[in-house]
Amino acid sequence: MSSASTPNQATPKEIWQNAKADLELQLARATYDTWLRGAHFLAYEDSEFIIGVSSSFAADWLNSRLHPLIKRTLCWLKGHAVEVRFVVQPKRVRDDLSRPAPLLETVSPAAAKTDHVAGNGHQMLNARYTFETFVVGNSNRLAHVAAQTVAERPGQAYNPFFIYAGVGLGKTHLLHSIGHEARRRGYGVLYVPAEGFTNDFVESLKNGSPEAFRQKYRTIDVLLLDDVQFIAGKNSTQEELFHTFNALHMAGKQIVLSADSMPDHIAALEKRLSSRFKSGLCVDLEPPGLETRIAILQMKMEAKGWSAVPDDVLESIAQRLPGSVRRLEGALNKVLAQAKVMGEPLTVALAEAALRDWIPPQPAMGTEAILSLVATHFGVTVESLKGRERGKHIMLPRQAAILLLHEEAALSRSHIGRLLGGRDHSTVSYALKRITRLLETDAGLRRRVQALRQELRVPVVMPR
Ligand code: ADP
Ligand code: MG
Repeated sequence: MSSASTPNQATPKEIWQNAKADLELQLARATYDTWLRGAHFLAYEDSEFIIGVSSSFAADWLNSRLHPLIKRTLCWLKGHAVEVRFVVQPKRVRDDLSRPAPLLETVSPAAAKTDHVAGNGHQMLNARYTFETFVVGNSNRLAHVAAQTVAERPGQAYNPFFIYAGVGLGKTHLLHSIGHEARRRGYGVLYVPAEGFTNDFVESLKNGSPEAFRQKYRTIDVLLLDDVQFIAGKNSTQEELFHTFNALHMAGKQIVLSADSMPDHIAALEKRLSSRFKSGLCVDLEPPGLETRIAILQMKMEAKGWSAVPDDVLESIAQRLPGSVRRLEGALNKVLAQAKVMGEPLTVALAEAALRDWIPPQPAMGTEAILSLVATHFGVTVESLKGRERGKHIMLPRQAAILLLHEEAALSRSHIGRLLGGRDHSTVSYALKRITRLLETDAGLRRRVQALRQELRVPVVMPR
């Protein structure tokens, strides 16, 4: 990070917002969402930023762990030395409509009380996550149509409706959209992340109030349960979910679930639950293609009140960021922050400069060449290696590609994840483990991979 040479003219509040956009790109998503997303500007006094957070736990955590990084970012943006201090001050949700709902606020019952959607006392729905703001493309068309159908006729079309995808591809956005539309039609809706369900259940055990729990979960028309993979392995919660599911289903109430993979692939999820989950309609969301990414950027810009951003700027951002829509938004925020701080118009050059440090350099060996070699060798296509298809015929080649990209091209796990259609680095780690284990026992596979390695290492002689 280079230092800004002149003091920044933006207001301290704007600088804090820009710092957040910058930090969102520097930190792991979970870290940012958990600790920083809800942190809000309170005051700037004697060169000190005072930032409000929702709990003393968060304040301690930020003061002890992230303080140096946040301070450095603020100093850079402000153009001179500043201090930063985190204090507890829960924010009114209303102030934050322009940003995605932080995880901690959606799960805390306290946050539900300050819900900006009047609703019916249930967990909040983010006002920005509606069908109108969801951009449709080939990658998500089926899930979108099914979600609309479910919202219009809960309990009648697909029940349960199960959406799965990697992080940042729009699962939560679609669940909230269903929630808004069903509420508009007069249905009782409950949106809850799986952690919220778990917490409520554990509370009800502690307080000896199973009735209140049932009252909350069984008297609604639509249950939207987000990130259901988080209840895997929690036995009594799974048991309770099983009964909740059955009670709702038998009463003809709609159940909508999201997860990071299809029911059968959620590790430590009880069989009886996974078989219930896939008994309706299961659809996945794929990483959006370039056109859709550009359309998403356009939509986000309009929502932020920026108009007339040149198409080539949006295209240059979209081109660099396949995979997660959340990261795409992060990149856009970073570019906008840079334009604002520098007081310069949005140009391709500015976008490139803003994202320069962030885009990993291309490896010496062409990654596409590796992919196409693997694809040819196994008789599949490069698209299917990057796609979502499962089954041994494609999983094995995909794992081989991951291994070679990692070992021969020395790419990081997250870089490989991005190359392969926006997979998350833990998926890549899992694939690496899996193929390494297979190689130990399968001599045939070992020979094939060895042959591929040799082919990759042969220097290519360019014709003169
Ligand atoms: P997930 O729950 O799958 O991790 P989210 O629903 O939180 O992902 O989406 C991450 C961000 O990307 C959100 O800000 C969301 O609005 C945005 N997003 C994802 N898909 C789309 C889309 N098709 N159109 C518009 N915004 C999208
Ligand atoms: Mg989500």
